[in-house]
Amino acid sequence: MSAQILDGKAIAADLRKTIQAEVSAITASGQRPPGLAVILVGDNPASQVYVRNKQKACEEVGFLSELIRLEADTAQDELLTLIDELNEREEIDGILVQLPLPEQIDEETVIERILPTKDVDGFHPYNVGRLVLRMPLLRPCTPKGVMTMLERTGMELAGKDAVIIGQSNIVGRPMALELLMARCTITVCHSRTKNLTDKIRGADIVVAAVGRPEFVQGDWIKPGAIVIDVGINRKDDGKLCGDVDFASASEVAGWITPVPGGVGPMTIATLLENTLQAAILHNSDT
Ligand code: NAD
Repeated sequence: MSAQILDGKAIAADLRKTIQAEVSAITASGQRPPGLAVILVGDNPASQVYVRNKQKACEEVGFLSELIRLEADTAQDELLTLIDELNEREEIDGILVQLPLPEQIDEETVIERILPTKDVDGFHPYNVGRLVLRMPLLRPCTPKGVMTMLERTGMELAGKDAVIIGQSNIVGRPMALELLMARCTITVCHSRTKNLTDKIRGADIVVAAVGRPEFVQGDWIKPGAIVIDVGINRKDDGKLCGDVDFASASEVAGWITPVPGGVGPMTIATLLENTLQAAILHNSDT
């Protein structure tokens, strides 16, 4: 293997330590700790695991954390009323509605109901718009976490050719905006992209967010490239794997993120970072 490992688990642990120290300083000065409310509608098993991990991370750094569970058949209006209440509550800085939502609830309507300064997922059109305009406020967690990892490589990002595979609202698109803001030249690929492998072969940075196990092959990677694997897939044997074939890609890449232990832990640590940022914002308002 020639690639250096971009150790998301270790970088996330560092980030959590910094956040914990900032929370201690905030509470020592007599201010309340940052507060995150997580709403889980229904009993999707993957969502339950994500929510549990987020809550644990909140408690570890000293945040106030509140989990609100709603039945799978909850009406949209009931969820919107709950968001209105949380928008009003002073001790709540961040509101996270775990996606996906049951089909009777419209995700966009729900996301838009969250106060933009409490939108710690960074999915509200206001926050996405600010990212487009290069004046970000709360930024989507997964792409922001990837940027933190890229900074840790110490590599100059400006001028690099970056290929993003995937154009979802939560990963691919905001990832492209983040890399553009870092002055990379970006190519966003998706299911209709022609000559995908040629595009990847020209990339200094590859971000894979496809949702297909071990899709990106080592011989598609430019030697020395930085490979970021966002994918979380479960193989037939129950093991987790990414969207990149780690064995072959790590022979060619300069840097690579593992799965698990790469982007995943960074997403949660960045959620904490966003909640702290929201709390500082709210405290400066009062
Ligand atoms: P999505 O299904 O919304 O988007 C997948 C994208 O891949 C689409 O834009 C589609 O056009 C593109 N695509 C599909 N087949 C393709 C092909 N053959 N060639 C090129 N592009 C193709 O998925 P998502 O929500 O963006 O998630 C992507 C992956 O990242 C999933 O495995 C998900 O579990 C994972 N994920 C991880 C984290 C994390 O914290 N690590 C966070 C979010 C999502």
